[in-house]
Amino acid sequence: MAQKKDYYEVLGVAKNASEDDLKKAYRKLAIQYHPDKNPGDKAAEEKFKEIAEAYGILSDAEKRQRYDQFGHQGVGGAGGFGGGAGVNMEDIFGSVFGDDSPFSSFFGGGGGRRSSGPSVRKGSDLRIKLKLDLEEIANGVEKKIKVKRYVSCNTCSGNGSKHGTSLKTCATCNGQGQVRKVVNTMLGQMVSTSPCPTCQGEGKVVTERCDVCFGEGRQLNEDLLSIKIPAGVAEGMQLSMTGKGNVPTRGGIAGDLLIVIEEEEHPELKRDGSNIIYELRMNFADAALGKDVEIPTVGGKVKINIKAGTQSGEILRLKGKGLKELNSYGVGDQLVHLSLFTPTSITSEERAILEKLRNSPNFQPKADKNDRSIFDKMKDFFH
Ligand SMILES: [Zn+2]
Ligand SMILES: [Zn+2]
Repeated sequence: MAQKKDYYEVLGVAKNASEDDLKKAYRKLAIQYHPDKNPGDKAAEEKFKEIAEAYGILSDAEKRQRYDQFGHQGVGGAGGFGGGAGVNMEDIFGSVFGDDSPFSSFFGGGGGRRSSGPSVRKGSDLRIKLKLDLEEIANGVEKKIKVKRYVSCNTCSGNGSKHGTSLKTCATCNGQGQVRKVVNTMLGQMVSTSPCPTCQGEGKVVTERCDVCFGEGRQLNEDLLSIKIPAGVAEGMQLSMTGKGNVPTRGGIAGDLLIVIEEEEHPELKRDGSNIIYELRMNFADAALGKDVEIPTVGGKVKINIKAGTQSGEILRLKGKGLKELNSYGVGDQLVHLSLFTPTSITSEERAILEKLRNSPNFQPKADKNDRSIFDKMKDFFH
């Protein structure tokens, strides 16, 4: 590779040129050597790239300083245009000419600016809601769902023309997908390009339409899709399946399928982030004497022990019995709130027993200094 030219020389400015001087010099040269003004002139194209690279470096204060200090090595060495120096055509045109400049469309087809050019069309996204119960959320689940979506027509292979016939090159744009027009700007006469109105940028038109899709190149189909839902998702979260949305008319990339999670309420278990809250009501005898009871968790039934002498309002923590946290290895807990159930109707026999116990010494509430309020206990659990 030949020795790279000095960036200041390329732009024809002095080493101490101001930002404004650089911009003016660049603008003048860019117009002179712009490929739209020099069609097929390889030398002009090279010169144009050289100018763009030089301006890309010198217009960036930090890069300019490095270049002044270390030369080409300081800004990416001897790499070619668009390589190590990190010059981006879009940056250059964005900063100098703005979005509506005729220059801005120059790089459209080749993957430069997104806003212009035909390039590849993308179909629309589809959005579906997916209801999951707490067990499915806890364990993750694979769901089979039916989705109505546009898929490529298999009679015409998606091009929209009748079996056997091929597409005709669009006469308006000669298959370019773009139309050019000369516009007068303050910088002089410029060539501007825009998507062809006849073929909508496709470059080809259907002469004889496919009987099945009527020239659309796509048809509505009911797909059976399998979706893997990770454990720990929550209401309102959105998952996406790339390429499972609609295919655009006559070829292109399919849009995405967006799956919005809906959480079905569990009859007994309440979710609080990755924790599960369960309310266990115990009768007075169980609280006083103790008892093993079975309770539900997201992983199935488990046995827990109510200790003799349990107070109403106590909370048991079942470690790791909550939900997996999405995107981490953490697992929540199940918190069991114990509350005392008081009977609302009793028989005369029950009444007699209770009357006997009413004044018994052990049944008198004791003020316990260590017995904190439920509110304080709750605070401990969540902080
Ligand atoms: Zn078709
Ligand atoms: Zn056209």
